Amino acid sequence: MIRYNAEGAASIRKKLLERVEADVADCYQCGNCTAGCPSAFTFDYMPNQVMRMLQVGMVDEVLSSKSVQLCIQCLTCTARCPRNIDIAGIFEDLKTIAVAQNIDVPEDAATFNRLFLENIAKYGRLTEAMFLVRFNIAAMKPMNDTDLGLPMMSKGKIEVIPRKSKGAGEVGRIYRKAMEKVR
Ligand code: SF4
Ligand code: SF4
Repeated sequence: MIRYNAEGAASIRKKLLERVEADVADCYQCGNCTAGCPSAFTFDYMPNQVMRMLQVGMVDEVLSSKSVQLCIQCLTCTARCPRNIDIAGIFEDLKTIAVAQNIDVPEDAATFNRLFLENIAKYGRLTEAMFLVRFNIAAMKPMNDTDLGLPMMSKGKIEVIPRKSKGAGEVGRIYRKAMEKVR
C-alpha cells in the first residue's frame, strides 16, 4: 500500500510546488487548455482556473478538488498551451502531493488510483475483474459498474481469473523503487 510519512509528504509538497509555481507564472489565461480538455465536464475547476488559482496561492483548494483527481493525463492541454506550460505534468504533480498528504479527495479517486497502481505492480498489467472487486469493496459500493463488467466477463472481454504478465516481477520492482524515492 502507498504510504508516506508526514516529513516525506512535506518535502514532496515543497519540491513539487516550487516547480509548479514557476510553471504557472507564465499562464495568461487564454483558455486553450480548457477548450481541449476531454475531462473538463467532470471537473469542479477548469484547467485554466486551476492555473489561476495556483497563481494566487489557492493551493489547498486545488489539492482537494475533483479536477486534480479526474484528469486522465491525455496531454491535450500541454500540447495546446501557447506558453509551453506542461499543464498535464502540473496536474500529475498536484495529484502526487494530494496522495502524499492523504488529502480527502472526492469521488473515491485516491482509492481508485492506489488500487490501480497496486494491481499493476502485482500483475504487471491491469486485471480488470480483480481491480473492480477490490475497488468496490474498498469504496463500499458492491454493485458499482457491475452492469458493465458482468456482460463483458460473459463475452470473454475481461478475464475473471487474474493472470500475471511475463514481466510482472520487473514491473513490481520498478514500482517499489519509485515508491522508495517519494517516501
Ligand atoms: S493554455 Fe496555457 S496559457 Fe492558456 S490558459 Fe491554459 S495554461 Fe494558461
Ligand atoms: S491532461 Fe488532464 S487537464 Fe489536460 S486535457 Fe487531459 S484530462 Fe484535461
